[in-house]
Amino acid sequence: MPEFSALKILSARAGADPLLVQAAGGNTSLKQNGVMWIKASGAWLRDAATRDIFVPVDHEVLLTALAGNDPACEACTDFVLADLNASGLRPSIETTLHALMPQRVVVHVHCVNTIAWAIRGDAEQRLAEKLKAFNWAFIPYARPGLLLANAIVARLIPGIDVLILGNHGLVVAAESVAEVEKLLNRVVEVLVKPVRATVPPDLAALHRLCKGTDYALARNIETHALATDVLALERGKDAVFYPDHVVFLGISVATEIESGAALVAIPGKGVLIRGDAKPAIEPMGRCLADVMRRIEADDPLTALDDEAIDRLVNWDAEKYRRSLTAGT
Ligand SMILES: [Zn+2]
Repeated sequence: MPEFSALKILSARAGADPLLVQAAGGNTSLKQNGVMWIKASGAWLRDAATRDIFVPVDHEVLLTALAGNDPACEACTDFVLADLNASGLRPSIETTLHALMPQRVVVHVHCVNTIAWAIRGDAEQRLAEKLKAFNWAFIPYARPGLLLANAIVARLIPGIDVLILGNHGLVVAAESVAEVEKLLNRVVEVLVKPVRATVPPDLAALHRLCKGTDYALARNIETHALATDVLALERGKDAVFYPDHVVFLGISVATEIESGAALVAIPGKGVLIRGDAKPAIEPMGRCLADVMRRIEADDPLTALDDEAIDRLVNWDAEKYRRSLTAGT
């Protein structure tokens, strides 16, 4: 099978696994004949096999611009090869990290198990034990785009094919799609954390609360766990641990229906979703629950600080992605 077709199938498979990818998060790429095909900003990986969601960029021109710290590398739209760009979309806001990896195939996922390690204050030391069989690097948190690219350059040495992005996720790279999939599976297997069982929602109470409002119950029992798992709500409610958390859920999780928030976690009862909420909202709420169900009461976590949050929510490339996700 041609590599591009194989990549689309792998992308769709990863995109359909909520423990790897949520909504428009995560992205994949393939470099061939000087062109780097990268997932489009705002597109969902799970659609990769059925829709045209890849954008062609000039790899060499992008690398040269990156070496010069060119601000055009923030959105990367200047490097799109318009003649080949059938989708007419913009490249992912994480295009630069794919360009920096020298391997042909790169997969970046917001793997729940990886995030549960990567938000710890001692992530680098703990992961060093776990990943000693791998050629890997830990990249301290930086906002995606040029800032993350610079953080990667500071630690990337030849041979590295696994990156753990602090407070963010996982990157794996290889010369073929088959190899990258194997590597992804191996890393994820090593990083699997124990998970607390879900506590069922109080359906009667939730239905009562929704009556006469624009809210409905979250569809997945795993999403409800954000409200029914006491520890998950306690630790996840008022801190922001990774970029998509704040971009889609805001700086704190609402706990009362009167808040009018897109997602409301009613403590001990379950999660409600506003009728007009973006399709990304429930997957992002579930992701937070999935991460927090892998966190213990005394785990030392590091949240994003106010400056990091501000850099994310006021970033133009991110605003564009959010506007696209609103419509899908
Ligand atoms: Zn990411």
